[in-house]
Amino acid sequence: MAQVYDGMECPLCSKVIDVDSDFFASTALPDEDGDLIDESDAAMHWACLFAREDADRFLDKLDAGERRSLRANPCWEILVDDAALLVAVNPDPTLDRDFGLSVHVLRTGMSWDLALNRFPACLEAMADPARLSVLPSERRARVAAALEALRAMAPQLTQELRRLDSRVK
Ligand SMILES: [Zn+2]
Repeated sequence: MAQVYDGMECPLCSKVIDVDSDFFASTALPDEDGDLIDESDAAMHWACLFAREDADRFLDKLDAGERRSLRANPCWEILVDDAALLVAVNPDPTLDRDFGLSVHVLRTGMSWDLALNRFPACLEAMADPARLSVLPSERRARVAAALEALRAMAPQLTQELRRLDSRVK
């Protein structure tokens, strides 16, 4: 998560971001040379993010950075990595089980930290209309399609998760 503070400005419109509102923020993510991706450690208005001309290119860069950062972290194992989804699991048994499953829907800027031991029920959190209302309709459709794909993959994923974590039922 980018550093968030009262009075922070959106780098795209220079207006102050209401920290109590829903806004886009990513962590600091590396490019292929290991340097910080421009604006990867910034917060911005959702509307400004999708209004930028290079929104797809920017999101592709962040998604690639996320993939790189997960691959480089020995705590995480990537379970799904395709054109629509990046799903990773952290099977560390000392971790709070309300986390451990990280789902990114590519080109939407949306990600979820889900409860590993409540899979696949935890996937339903991805359908929260209030949260998705910040997305333009075509991006919302990407999330819906990704959720469908995950539901279809749930039996195999459950097997994988069980292999990694005995507390997955
Ligand atoms: Zn803005």
